Amino acid sequence: MKVAVVTGANKGLGFGIVRGLCKRFDGDVYLTARNEERGRAAVADLEKEGLQPKFHQLDITDHASIVKLRDHLQNTYQGLDVLVNNAAIAYQFNDFVPPPYPEEAQQVCHVNYFSTLDVCQVLFPLLRPHARVCNVSSLNCHESFCDCSPAVQNRIKTAIHTIEDVNKLINDYVKAAQNNQHLKEGFDKYPYGMSKIGISLMSAIQQKTFDEQGAEDIIVNSCDVGVGGWVATDMTAQYGVSIDKGALNPLFCALLPPNVKEPKGKFLYDAKEYDW
Ligand code: NDP
Repeated sequence: MKVAVVTGANKGLGFGIVRGLCKRFDGDVYLTARNEERGRAAVADLEKEGLQPKFHQLDITDHASIVKLRDHLQNTYQGLDVLVNNAAIAYQFNDFVPPPYPEEAQQVCHVNYFSTLDVCQVLFPLLRPHARVCNVSSLNCHESFCDCSPAVQNRIKTAIHTIEDVNKLINDYVKAAQNNQHLKEGFDKYPYGMSKIGISLMSAIQQKTFDEQGAEDIIVNSCDVGVGGWVATDMTAQYGVSIDKGALNPLFCALLPPNVKEPKGKFLYDAKEYDW
């Protein structure tokens, strides 16, 4: 039995991705959520549509929670075939007052980049031949890249070869933000975009690592939602296209057929490579 996992899927885009996978993926689909009640309510909603997602709790910032999911997948399926890293936070659109900037930078990078990396590091050993990983990034990685200084842009383009290099880049930004020195040091002002730069860089390195290890047809890509950029979710104060339309690009990544040559380790927009 094949198995797919989507993080942060109790609402928004993740919910739409689970709905799409339930219709198109040949195997069990796990809707995961940090809050069990919200997650089970989302599963019940999909069941009313005649779909049969399974539920597992997963808070991506809680290492023990990731390990519990890994053990469940190992014991039940002895592997993993599709992983969609969708869970993320952003403060700018939500209707609550964001925390002070240093805290926002730290929190957003902690959840969106470092916690997603932790999910990958714990779950990747389960990936089977032909597995597909979709790391949901954002076109904001391109916008933040453009707003970085030429020196930081050059660092991103030429000096990031390993996950440790990405960690250092994002940590340098967070550290600079603690003292309000991030602009002086050439970083963008936008924590969400900086965190998504981390996701897009991480994805390319993960693919390179799988290829170097001789992994059999494991493909990792990052992606935006495509379709004009915005999907109506709580993150965008419900501005944009439907979650089902927004899910199309992540689903394209998650359902790439066996043994395709491309795209691999790329950032995808509307199912095409986008040179961010
Ligand atoms: P939402 O805010 O609607 O949903 C975010 C989801 O992530 C929620 O289920 C939330 O759970 C979950 N989440 C947050 N923190 C954690 C955590 N620590 N552990 C597990 N789950 C968590 O946002 P979207 O659906 O819009 O965003 C989904 C993805 O799409 C994100 O990666 C976002 O960056 C990306 N994206 C979205 C775009 C858009 O236009 N909407 C555009 C480009 C990219 P809870 O309900 O408990 O808070």
